[in-house]
Amino acid sequence: MKMRRLALAIAFAAVVVPAHAIEPDAPGIEPAETGPAGPAIEARSPDDATDEPSSDTFARRIESGETLDAVLSEAGITASDRAEVALALGAEYDLRRLRPGHRIGVSMSVDGRPHRVGLTVEDGVLIEALFGAQPRTRIVAPDPEIVFRAADATVETSIAQALAEEGIPTRFAVDLAQMLGGTVDFRRDLDGGETLRLLWHEAKVAGERIRQPELAFAALELDGALYEIVWPEDGTGRATIYLDGEILRVFAQPVEGARLTSVFGRRRHPVHGDVRMHTGVDFAAARGTPVQATAPGKVAFTGWRSGYGRMVDVAHGSDTLTRYAHLSAIAEDLAVGKRVVAGDMIGKVGATGTTTGPSLHYEVHVEGRPRNPLADERLGEIIAREEDDGNRLIRLNAARSELEKRLAGAAIPKSEERL
Ligand SMILES: [Zn+2]
Repeated sequence: MKMRRLALAIAFAAVVVPAHAIEPDAPGIEPAETGPAGPAIEARSPDDATDEPSSDTFARRIESGETLDAVLSEAGITASDRAEVALALGAEYDLRRLRPGHRIGVSMSVDGRPHRVGLTVEDGVLIEALFGAQPRTRIVAPDPEIVFRAADATVETSIAQALAEEGIPTRFAVDLAQMLGGTVDFRRDLDGGETLRLLWHEAKVAGERIRQPELAFAALELDGALYEIVWPEDGTGRATIYLDGEILRVFAQPVEGARLTSVFGRRRHPVHGDVRMHTGVDFAAARGTPVQATAPGKVAFTGWRSGYGRMVDVAHGSDTLTRYAHLSAIAEDLAVGKRVVAGDMIGKVGATGTTTGPSLHYEVHVEGRPRNPLADERLGEIIAREEDDGNRLIRLNAARSELEKRLAGAAIPKSEERL
């Protein structure tokens, strides 16, 4: 497996993953003969140590009910060294999160002491304690393999039900509602029999899916109209919605990959408990996730406001404004009057102000009044102006042919294809 070393901060983010991602039942690595270490180990410098089983004198998965201490003991590590190993691993990984299926690999030095102890946890992430001249612990995150998949479904009662029947991740129903919610009223407009075709990608490590799958392209035929959505791969979070092959709207996500948890309009307030107007949309994301400007503009406010907590306003021309609230931090170099472009980091997700947990509250104001960020045309036009329409049409055609190719490939053996 190709491993990539990441800065600890990034690797930490990789460690904090949804609990569903359990280490696969990988083919068991048989414990190597424990004995005097061979020349291969002596020749290794600590920096070269990887998770290759061949370098380990002991390697196996942790079984249900076992403790780390018992496994290390079985590897022939003395009690005092075991305590040191636990401290070193515990510095980078909460050992209470150990689960069956995690793996331990140990390589011993000629003096009978551990030279390297590797703990492989969720998503193939390796916590590695090295006991050389300068003992240290590091986190090594694997390069996931990106797998594209495609499927089609016929809508009978609801989008979610159609997805579930075809074995397509039902979370996509939320993505579709987010993108088309400002244009299509799913409850009213869906009569049944509509076709939905989707292209998405999944990240895999050792054949096991990590993270959540993400949509790349969707096509929905509704009342003789064809709605298509292309989600970008460039990290800008700017999705384009097309109607009958023409650009209808561009929508930029202020938090990449975040889930929309509350929409614009009247709702029961999650903290106050009464029915109030929700003047924006909420995206749930981990504290510290970067928040980016959705369109080019000028910073109009940074600071604290009651209810909103720490927040930033960005003015886009004279009559349009975007607001980003509940931030844990505002970008250091941000000040009123500063120019930003779409995708610039303006702060980090937090839980300041009145909120039940870490999330971004995002508002779009036009002529001083809050509008539905998912449906407002004005901001969409400002975002769309940043890029040539030609590129957007090229992306649509590329997405269409990719979908066709995947669907054709999927028709005979319903298998996956590597990128
Ligand atoms: Zn909100």
